[in-house]
Amino acid sequence: MAGLNDNIRYLKGVGETRAKAMEKLGIHTLRDLLSYFPRAYEDRRTICAIKDAPLDIPVCVRAMAAAPPVASYVRKGMELLKLRAVDDSGSLEITWFNQAYLRSQLETGATYIFYGRVTEQGRRRAMANPVFEREDRQGVVTGRILPIYRLTAGVPQKLMISAMEQALAGCGSRMPDILPPELCRRLKLAQAPYAYENIHFPRDEQALDKARERLVFEELYVLGAALAMLREKRTGEPGRAMQALPMDEFWAALPFAPTEAQRRAVREAAADMTSGVPMNRLLQGDVGSGKTLVAAALIWLAVKNGCQAAFMAPTEILAEQHFATLSQLLEPMGIRVVRLTGSMTAAQKRQVNGLLSLGQADVAVGTHALISGGVTFFDLGLVVTDEQHRFGVAQRGALAEKGDKPHTLVMSATPIPRTLALIIYGDLDVSVLDELPPGRQKVDTFAVGEDMRPRIWRFVRRLVGEGRQVFIVCPMVEESEELPPTVKSAQSYAKTLQSEVFPDLRVGCVHGRMKAKEKDAVMAAFAAGELDILVSTTVIEVGVDIPNAALMIVENADRFGLSQLHQLRGRVGRGQHKSYCVLFSDGETEEARARLAIMTKTGDGFKIAEEDLRLRGPGDFFGSRQHGLPEMHIADLSADMRVLKQAQQEAQDTLARDPSLEQPENIPLRDRIRELFEINGNTLN
Ligand code: ADP
Ligand code: MG
Repeated sequence: MAGLNDNIRYLKGVGETRAKAMEKLGIHTLRDLLSYFPRAYEDRRTICAIKDAPLDIPVCVRAMAAAPPVASYVRKGMELLKLRAVDDSGSLEITWFNQAYLRSQLETGATYIFYGRVTEQGRRRAMANPVFEREDRQGVVTGRILPIYRLTAGVPQKLMISAMEQALAGCGSRMPDILPPELCRRLKLAQAPYAYENIHFPRDEQALDKARERLVFEELYVLGAALAMLREKRTGEPGRAMQALPMDEFWAALPFAPTEAQRRAVREAAADMTSGVPMNRLLQGDVGSGKTLVAAALIWLAVKNGCQAAFMAPTEILAEQHFATLSQLLEPMGIRVVRLTGSMTAAQKRQVNGLLSLGQADVAVGTHALISGGVTFFDLGLVVTDEQHRFGVAQRGALAEKGDKPHTLVMSATPIPRTLALIIYGDLDVSVLDELPPGRQKVDTFAVGEDMRPRIWRFVRRLVGEGRQVFIVCPMVEESEELPPTVKSAQSYAKTLQSEVFPDLRVGCVHGRMKAKEKDAVMAAFAAGELDILVSTTVIEVGVDIPNAALMIVENADRFGLSQLHQLRGRVGRGQHKSYCVLFSDGETEEARARLAIMTKTGDGFKIAEEDLRLRGPGDFFGSRQHGLPEMHIADLSADMRVLKQAQQEAQDTLARDPSLEQPENIPLRDRIRELFEINGNTLN
């Protein structure tokens, strides 16, 4: 008997090689396979008469082979097989290209179901390359709703379907049922075996709806329970209550006035910090909205309350930048700021560590070097993490462990549509900086095609001539055989630009496969003005501040998400210079054009995020890369909003009744959550 954890290579028709290919789709076991849902369906149930068949959409036609098929060579590499098929209403000219082997499968006088598009040439009706099967052996490729799976090289649709049928027959009924029976009954949700059967091979539309409804609910229920457990862990115990202080004292020491949004965020966070419950707040703000200053205000509050603060950034260069900003701002107020990064020598680290453990330094700014074993704090009361999606829960947690229930603030420049933020960040409170500091200039943005290349290159020269610097971002690090050669890779493009286009300018390159040290060295050179053009992958996406950079060029821009483009654009326009963003693409489709057009029209990160969500769907948007949330297999977080709320409520109720999920009916849920945390490692945010 087949088991859910059996490897797929034992299925008929799969074997070693194809199993390897299927692993690329994340499918290893029969259970993975059954959880691999179709991306679409083809309804091959209705059979039309030849004369009445609608044109140019796929349909089934039942017709008899009227004569033996005729093969002919058109030219080298092009062989035709022609068949005349008839039914009561008329005749159909069927052609297959380069599939002469089908000849032996077609018997004159036998009736077949052909599935394909009917076209009309004059009064003659024709069909090219249909799939077909004999009427008396119907039901495999016609006569039913057929699933369409996302594929990879070496795994044809036919194989997926046959493998799926075997898996369903073998152990479909043993897929674990995550939902307690009581809940299924109450909400009238289908049971697991029915759902798996019908999500793959739906009996009819209703069955498909039922199956989908159930699986979507299950996925969101698991997510809801996982988030609720995280929140529970946090709010269970009391935290430290700090003394409220007049913030005007801090604001007055600044060279500029805070924005209203900054004041509000500080008020909200300060209320948490003085409440007696540990703060766990997300600060969301567009690039350049001034999140660092909010953090500084809260650090000031913590230190004035007699405790220490830690500020963790995802990269060395960002840590350096924050260290410079924060020490400049806070040192004059009598606050001692130290730096702790991986590139410091052991002796330097020891020295800083000594200061922190004795309470002789108030603020530590650094990279994840801060969470290394050797670091101890005298009394850590506030933990700030910048660009939170780069860190997982565990890393944030590890830093918080170094204090006695410190307050935590995580900052993110990835705007999430407001409607979703509260649900997605179910375990965090959220403050939003929805206002940019005054005087921030708009970055003029252009979406252009290859024909504009010469003009843009002249523009690069002009700007560099004026002393400005230029970013050029490519979608890939290295060339790839799987993608068309028009897709630019940072490494080779940088070489080409240096040798062929801008031999007289200084071109540098930075990408994610470089060692952190090399990367930082190149970034530092660019920041110091020693390079004119920096070609890179999206490694520069995160908050680097280079005020002299005035032009951001993105190659193959249609390959990026809008939110990502917005982040990239935020790298320029940070100084007093007029700045520009040029999005190159040969995106042919209407949709690709519409997406890039949005970038040229608005600079509002939230608006862009919402458009992105609307146009691309949440699949990419909520990909684990951006949020650390597990990838959704079937649920659509924008369309299934109502279910999301309901599933979340049910999950909370379940946990309220059975907090550690020990009841027999909740064990499958507990196991699933554990897996989820394991798969996503530390990243379930
Ligand atoms: P981000 O939210 O992207 O991290 P930063 O905190 O780096 O933004 O701030 C961007 C720039 O805006 C910094 O140079 C900072 O000094 C400046 N800034 C922040 N707040 C204000 C303000 N209220 N008025 C003027 N400039 C500000
Ligand atoms: Mg920042």
